[in-house]
Amino acid sequence: MLTIDDERRLLTSEKVRNAVQVQSHVLGIARQFFVGRGFVEILPVVISPFTDPLTDYRVRGEIECYGFHYQITKSMIFHKQMALLSLPRVFCFSPNIRIEPAERRTSGRHLIEFVQLDLEVRDASREDVMKLAEDFFADLFERLPAVAADELRFFGRVILPPRRPFRAIRHDEAVRDYGNDFELGLSQDLREPAWILDFPAESREFYDREYPDRPGVLRDMDLVYPEGFGEALSGGEREHELESIEKRIIRKGIDLASYKYYLDFARTGLPASAGFGIGMERLTRYICGLDSVREARYFAKLPGTLSL
Ligand code: ASP
Ligand code: MG
Repeated sequence: MLTIDDERRLLTSEKVRNAVQVQSHVLGIARQFFVGRGFVEILPVVISPFTDPLTDYRVRGEIECYGFHYQITKSMIFHKQMALLSLPRVFCFSPNIRIEPAERRTSGRHLIEFVQLDLEVRDASREDVMKLAEDFFADLFERLPAVAADELRFFGRVILPPRRPFRAIRHDEAVRDYGNDFELGLSQDLREPAWILDFPAESREFYDREYPDRPGVLRDMDLVYPEGFGEALSGGEREHELESIEKRIIRKGIDLASYKYYLDFARTGLPASAGFGIGMERLTRYICGLDSVREARYFAKLPGTLSL
């Protein structure tokens, strides 16, 4: 159990302060980059009648008010899709709550409250947003040393802009070479970030689009950091037609009624899109070479603990 003394020690540690300063520069560079690419920043949605089902749709942070049930956002996936009715490119620094299993407390990669840079592009393909992500990481790692020189020196980290295009590995190849839990093993062998493509539908949520001619295989991707830091982002093209969304929800064994309002919205039309989300604490951990995401923000909340 975390004590007030522990919280104070973390909050005043030089390491966490330097990491938060790096992160502040990362947020600034990201804003400039995406606004420069024609994106509009939208404000986060924290409660809604529906949210990302994510691994176990029955684990819900719920708020009841006025007799209605709101859920606490696990990701803004559906809201970024809907926002594309108004704007062609949106991004958001979105706080997400995910009640991870308590065993993940020591993974170094999980917090139950984190922030992701979540974005979506109307009429884009997976390849379009992969190129966008590669350009973003290249821009970030080019510009960061000039503005965060002292902090990067403190951590003894030199992160060079990766070569583009990044290496791409199909999901079935990753499983063949590293097993079902390939993420960390693969990450440890990498010297530069690499894509994982074409996840099987059973391993992902219902909203990532299936190849029209390859049932059960998705037009989605993860990016994996090198040096064992694991997942950098998840994303893909999206299902946007009512019939396909319903089919995918049913195949997941999810009750259609729990997505009633999203389905009602999809019935009136959703644009085709692709996008991704980058966890900001994990990005900070990678840049600073931290042991744990717990050191990558103030008031970090590890699974299974009570934290401020
Ligand atoms: N919704 C995904 C996540 O939060 C990210 C994305 O697909 O855009 O993991
Ligand atoms: Mg993911």
